[in-house]
Amino acid sequence: MSARILVVDDILTNVKLLEAKLTAEYFDVYTATSGQEALDLVASTPPDIILLDVMMPHMDGFEVCRRIKSNPDTQHIPVIMVTALDQTADKLNGLAAGADDFLTKPVNHIALLARVKSLVRLKMVVDELRLRTTNNEAMGVPMDVVLQPPKSLGGNILIVEDDQKMVDLFSNSLNNNENHSLFFTSDPQEGLYLASSENIDLIIISLNMDDFDGLRLCSQLKSMDKTRNLPILVVIDDSNPQKLARALDMGVNDYISHPVDSHELYARCLLSLKRKWYADQLRNNLELSMEMVVRDALTGMFNRRYIDSNLKKIFIDAKNNNKPLSLLLLDIDRFKRVNDNYGHDIGDEILIEFASRIRAGVRGIDIAARLGGEEFVVILPDTDLETAINIAERLRVIICDELFVNLPNCEDLTISMSVGISTLNNRDNKPENLLKRADLALYKAKEGGRNRVDTY
Ligand code: GH3
Ligand code: MG
Ligand code: MG
Repeated sequence: MSARILVVDDILTNVKLLEAKLTAEYFDVYTATSGQEALDLVASTPPDIILLDVMMPHMDGFEVCRRIKSNPDTQHIPVIMVTALDQTADKLNGLAAGADDFLTKPVNHIALLARVKSLVRLKMVVDELRLRTTNNEAMGVPMDVVLQPPKSLGGNILIVEDDQKMVDLFSNSLNNNENHSLFFTSDPQEGLYLASSENIDLIIISLNMDDFDGLRLCSQLKSMDKTRNLPILVVIDDSNPQKLARALDMGVNDYISHPVDSHELYARCLLSLKRKWYADQLRNNLELSMEMVVRDALTGMFNRRYIDSNLKKIFIDAKNNNKPLSLLLLDIDRFKRVNDNYGHDIGDEILIEFASRIRAGVRGIDIAARLGGEEFVVILPDTDLETAINIAERLRVIICDELFVNLPNCEDLTISMSVGISTLNNRDNKPENLLKRADLALYKAKEGGRNRVDTY
């Protein structure tokens, strides 16, 4: 996992120190010694991550961060603020300026790598999300995603801790945000149960519990499908770097050291929730694009691609289990005339209404799809010919008896359709046979005068 990192600090020895540590880990490092120089570099050569000193003359780190985060071209670049240890309020100020993480000076080696690596991962997620959003929009898929999480991000936070003093500290620190709901337990089994049954956004686990090894719980959570993607923040003693390294290897997302600073705790929780928000956006977005692949954009019905893969499955299932299977091919009559007389936009509205009537008129296990143009298909599993004819007849009536009156200037408009039906027989050896016979039956219905149902 490599990345280009911009290190910004007005003191050259600090720059050199961070540069040496990161270069040793094969990161590609470049540097700036003032806020303005940093902004110029960000514009000319955008980094993957910025390590930004807070205390700098002329323009301090907060201002640099604010400018990066308010520019749409650069706001997705993660910023780690580097603060002095005694300035705890700096962490909250950094958050307010839009920072993505923070480190305290002197910079601890494990902390540096943990924060940088975690942000490289976040950057990959955000970049992917940006790319998908642009690609999908370019392909005409409307993308309801925002690329910035809401300002008042809250979450369901599960805390596994047996020390009452710590529990009080968590409550006080996190209850400041009225958008959070907190769940406490000192029992790891209950923690596991809550994590998989409640809608948890973040799990905080103490690695200092008396009767239980918190790392074991982390590993259980990371190995279960339901909880694998939940962010985990561990509370750990600074004196135990091996344990921390193991936790990070295991996939624990973030950590906070004893004694816990309540500002830092508050800030880290928000940062974790922000990362989860991005990951969720990406997943929703992926599901949406996958959904779009099998849906017709105009009517929202399944499309031909969906039918091609599903008809085959249903066909094989029917053959193997000796179950009936029927298929309807529907085609709107004289639709070209409708377009010619009422305009293409009205034609589109009719297709939408038509699709919605067909969908409402079939059972949940039936599959209705738009094959293209004004041609639709309905697959009827477990349905013999006689039943299929009844269903087709009912759909025909739903289309031609109810007027399409809600559209402007269409008071006198009637729509009808013709339907061709086919039913599985012993000679059928591939699903195309069914489509072919339904097509021949449809042709018969058109020849026979339209607005009718035929079989072949
Ligand atoms: P038939 O009764 O023989 O089916 O006559 P038809 O006019 O319906 O059939 P034809 O195949 O000649 O014409 C189909 C028309 O459907 C042509 C095209 O303008 C229209 N059409 C196809 N797709 C769309 C669409 O997405 N929107 C609109 N508005 N019209 C469409
Ligand atoms: Mg037609
Ligand atoms: Mg046609």
